[in-house]
Amino acid sequence: MAAAAAAKVQEVREITRIERIGAHSHIRGLGLDDALEPRQVSQGMVGQQTARRAAGVILEMIKEGKIAGRAVLIAGQPGTGKTAIAMGMAQALGPDTPFTVISGSEIFSLEMSKTEALMQSFRKSIGVRIKEETEIIEGEVVEIQIDRPATGTGAKVGKLTLKTTEMETIYDLGQKMIESLTKEKVQAGDIITIDKATGKITKLGRSFTRARDYDAMGPQTKFVQCPEGELQKRKEVVHTVTLHEIDVINSRTQGFLALFSGDTGEIKGEVREQINAKVAEWREEGKAEIVPGVLFIDEVHMLDIESFSFLNRAMENDLAPVLIMATNRGITRIRGTNYQSPHGIPIDMLDRLVIISTTPYEEKEIKQILKIRCEEEDVEMSDDALIVLTRIGMETSLRYAIQLITTANLVCRKRKGTEVSINDVKRVYSLFLDECRSTQFLKEYQQEFLF
Ligand code: ATP
Repeated sequence: MAAAAAAKVQEVREITRIERIGAHSHIRGLGLDDALEPRQVSQGMVGQQTARRAAGVILEMIKEGKIAGRAVLIAGQPGTGKTAIAMGMAQALGPDTPFTVISGSEIFSLEMSKTEALMQSFRKSIGVRIKEETEIIEGEVVEIQIDRPATGTGAKVGKLTLKTTEMETIYDLGQKMIESLTKEKVQAGDIITIDKATGKITKLGRSFTRARDYDAMGPQTKFVQCPEGELQKRKEVVHTVTLHEIDVINSRTQGFLALFSGDTGEIKGEVREQINAKVAEWREEGKAEIVPGVLFIDEVHMLDIESFSFLNRAMENDLAPVLIMATNRGITRIRGTNYQSPHGIPIDMLDRLVIISTTPYEEKEIKQILKIRCEEEDVEMSDDALIVLTRIGMETSLRYAIQLITTANLVCRKRKGTEVSINDVKRVYSLFLDECRSTQFLKEYQQEFLF
């Protein structure tokens, strides 16, 4: 049983690793010095100095609470680091600051109205820092089960069976618990404490009895090897939840589990009003404070006129997060109308925006970004292969070149090589087309059939 449990924990660890190497995982901040001047290469950020300097100034405004009622627009060509800069801003605000990323097209779904989807994104971006007394449970881990439910939900669920001297406790694990299980390397047989409110697990050590001994002892045997002392302790903890999490917990019968299944549905207006009133009460009593976060809307030109009007109004609210939007369009039609406007954004919204623009990269910057990505993905690449990849990046797109790193590394590993060579890069360049060659190919193909 111990081995099975360990295997399951291992599985989770690998998933965490996969998530770590996301497209922007190398970004650790904006890379600014104390005077808010951008360093050429720092915290995973390269070049784009004017935009980073501007983002730094906005960060200061956010920290001083001076950004209310305004929003930021990052405009620039595809692959010029708009998302990277927004990620850098969020990292710089600290781990406690909620940061939500959505794409403009995401709000159009059959599950909920677009204004509800926007409202949920707003509330996901507002944190409530709550102080409370929590219950700490101490005991020995008997079994850990962690499964990944239906793909696409991104959720993880699980079950942790604990034995204490007096009772058997079964916990449904939340994301935070799984993270701390993995971090603390908890296995069956360990003595741990769990903070019931935050799900944080602390490993105290290993017991003398291994999990499989429980089977030999039989279910009637009372567990006696738990360290002596209080079974339940109380301590004051501070933790941050988002307004959206409070909304969901209070409107779904499954409570907080609904958050992991992603099945949040629409939330009634009166539930939100009650929650706002409750949070205001907690703030007055000194039990809670508001942590305004960041809502990042990528591809903002995909929003329609109604969504913009909703955003305009929602930004006025006391509880609004900082709104950062990004677009790679110039003059384009405002969705839902026949009017054209800069970035496809209505004039009244444009009026409220602070605009940052990003510019195309130079060759040496592309090379530096590719080098950082190689390090992030643990890929060894020869100097001449990096030069070829940089050329490809200049002629096609940065993102295409970044994708070739992983594929070229796979080809290299297949031939049992330790360093990606020019030939590996050439091979994947011919296997995977960039957008330009792909369009060319289809045009030629079309001609054969149409005429
Ligand atoms: P799009 O308009 O297509 O959404 P974008 O402008 O948001 O593109 P990103 O997704 O930020 O572009 O950039 C593409 C890739 O290059 C990402 O992996 C990003 O992390 C990386 N990148 C872009 N700019 C920088 C930079 N200045 N420093 C380090 N990495 C960068």
